[in-house]
Amino acid sequence: MDAAVDAARRVADAASRRAAEVDHPGGFPEADVEALREAGLLAAPLRGQDGGIGLGTAPGSLHALLTVLRTVGRGSLPLGRLYEGHVNALLLIDQFGTDAQRSRWAADARDGHLFGVWNTEIPADGVRYTVDRDRVRVEGAKTFASGCAHVTRPLVPGALGDGWQMAVLPLDTLDATVEPEWWQAEGMRASQSGRVDVSGTTVGTGALLGTPGDYLREPAFTGGSIRFAAVQLGGAEALARAARAHLARLGRTDHAGQQARFGQITTALETGALWLLGASRLMDPPAGTPDPEAVRAYAQMARTAIERVCLDVLEWTDRTVGARGLGAPGPSERVGRDLRLYLRQPDPDGAVEAAGAYALSHDARPLGSDL
Ligand SMILES: Cc1cc2nc3c(=O)[nH]c(=O)nc-3n(C[C@H](O)[C@H](O)[C@H](O)COP(=O)(O)OP(=O)(O)OC[C@H]3O[C@@H](n4cnc5c(N)ncnc54)[C@H](O)[C@@H]3O)c2cc1C
Repeated sequence: MDAAVDAARRVADAASRRAAEVDHPGGFPEADVEALREAGLLAAPLRGQDGGIGLGTAPGSLHALLTVLRTVGRGSLPLGRLYEGHVNALLLIDQFGTDAQRSRWAADARDGHLFGVWNTEIPADGVRYTVDRDRVRVEGAKTFASGCAHVTRPLVPGALGDGWQMAVLPLDTLDATVEPEWWQAEGMRASQSGRVDVSGTTVGTGALLGTPGDYLREPAFTGGSIRFAAVQLGGAEALARAARAHLARLGRTDHAGQQARFGQITTALETGALWLLGASRLMDPPAGTPDPEAVRAYAQMARTAIERVCLDVLEWTDRTVGARGLGAPGPSERVGRDLRLYLRQPDPDGAVEAAGAYALSHDARPLGSDL
């Protein structure tokens, strides 16, 4: 697992040097995805017999996965988002795939296919599956589909009867309408989180993964939010690095106000890293199975805490570099823009409410710090 973290560091350093080049509408970090493949990180979540190292799938590997995600996010938040989606799809395949599906999609991952999970949709225009003997008709579209013009194996949950059914679509063989231009956000431009309309396509029933409802199965569904929090924390670390470099360039590291602020920044970043450590200990304990309710509550607490860390670091690094340091193209401006948007994940109020409801209905709070 240490080798994966080292590899992530190398990929992240290169991605950070290239990030400004792909920060435009329609941009995409193609060279960095290729670097992930070359470093073995696209295959890393696969089991050993499938050519991976079980990163995030083998017991005891969650902290390494979160460290890899944080590191990739530090290099580039769009790349971190794409890698997180790829990992999420492989984890779901590992959990719910048949042996034949696992080995088929493992071969695709080894061959460099990029996976993703495209769940978000406009309900009236959402994806629907209809099974007709051994074929599945697909109608509807997904929005916020990260890597829309480059992901060739999206895991696409959609309606099947009354249920929510996963399918892994071979997008490179389907006549889908892919709209990267739908993505007109100010931040995360290179994540290319556009719209994909798969209406009128058909796939074999072998594309269906698991049974209806598996995608939303707890505690994995809510617990998975720890992965986007790890990427977000990497973005905050990138802001701190950029601010430190800016101060060093201006010879301002001796300034007491800046030092005090850096004390806050570094404390906040370590708080975030400790939440990742606590989450790993609680969700991936050395022995036994964690309590599902505690996993959900802890993920919601960790996500909430790391969002706060990131918002604080955003404010403090803005103050540190000032207007002079926030010009484009520059890392403080770009990463700040990316992080501000990427922090907007589903239902943040619901997450903190659920953590509170757990605390009010249990005698003990979930402890990742005391195992
Ligand atoms: C860069 C980026 C890439 C993404 N990539 C993908 C992807 O590849 N695949 C994918 O599936 N999704 C993707 N998403 C979408 C993401 O998973 C979320 O769906 C999206 O970010 C939700 O953001 P939101 O702020 O609109 O959330 P919301 O949940 O709508 O939250 C907005 C606000 O409304 C509140 N709220 C929530 N529910 C209610 C309610 N019922 N009534 C009133 N208020 C409510 C929240 O607490 C919050 O204050 C991506 C998003 C981003 C930003």
